[in-house]
Amino acid sequence: MKIFEVTYRYDGTDDMVRPQPVDADAARARLNEGSQSVVALLDGVADGTGAVEHVVHLDPRDLGVEVGGRRTPAQRPFAAVVGCSDARVPIELVFKEGPNDLFVVRVAGNGLGAEVLGSLRYAVDHLGDSLKLVVVLGHSGCGAVTAAVDAYLEPASYLSVAVNHALRGILDRLLAVINAAARRMAEEFGPDVTRRPGYRTALIEAASVSHAALSAHTLQRHLGDDGPQGLRAAYGTYLIDAHTVWAPRAGSADCTGLAYPPSDLAGFAGFADAVVRSERIRAILATPAP
Ligand SMILES: [Zn+2]
Repeated sequence: MKIFEVTYRYDGTDDMVRPQPVDADAARARLNEGSQSVVALLDGVADGTGAVEHVVHLDPRDLGVEVGGRRTPAQRPFAAVVGCSDARVPIELVFKEGPNDLFVVRVAGNGLGAEVLGSLRYAVDHLGDSLKLVVVLGHSGCGAVTAAVDAYLEPASYLSVAVNHALRGILDRLLAVINAAARRMAEEFGPDVTRRPGYRTALIEAASVSHAALSAHTLQRHLGDDGPQGLRAAYGTYLIDAHTVWAPRAGSADCTGLAYPPSDLAGFAGFADAVVRSERIRAILATPAP
């Protein structure tokens, strides 16, 4: 029997309430552990190993329920997440979190526009006591990145975008990282890489994670090297098919879970190497023609 059940549970005791992460490393570890448990859950559903229950324990304070009466709970998220509006990427579910755990800003293409930066500034200025981490989360098969890559590969397709200022604002923000990713792929695999059947998809995925890493780097610079109270930025790409978070990083073959962004040009060179040499990008490029 295949059952996928997600339960938000408050059983009347405080025993199961999870403690708040004490710093950025602890916050990142909690999100990565939550992501891994979701992977295990959905893998169990896929291979039919049985019923699986996914319980997110709630703190009664976050529901406005306490012994002695109701009250409006104070906001106390431990992480802020900038994610895409894509309906397939529900941020709390991706990380196994519940109410009052995450301050979420979602916008198509997860770019750092004025409203996104303003929302994050609010979180940093007003929720600094609980906030430990700011995450930029892209995702596989992103429609915004795909449209920008298509405009890059076939400039004629940009004409219909050019007259739509709202849409253009989202796509233009992506073109610089797409150009950089395309150049790095040509250096690594040769100029003929553009003829491979998987090239377009590989460029979309390389650009998506590069965009998330650059955005996280930008946020870290805004926050200062250590950020207020050690607040740090992190990045990753949620893979819709694998349910996991993918984040190539310099000097490591490990791509699983959220990572901290490069801090300088040399760091970004190492990051770009890690992206184009990753098993995932190589596998996409090796995809035979349909
Ligand atoms: Zn998207």
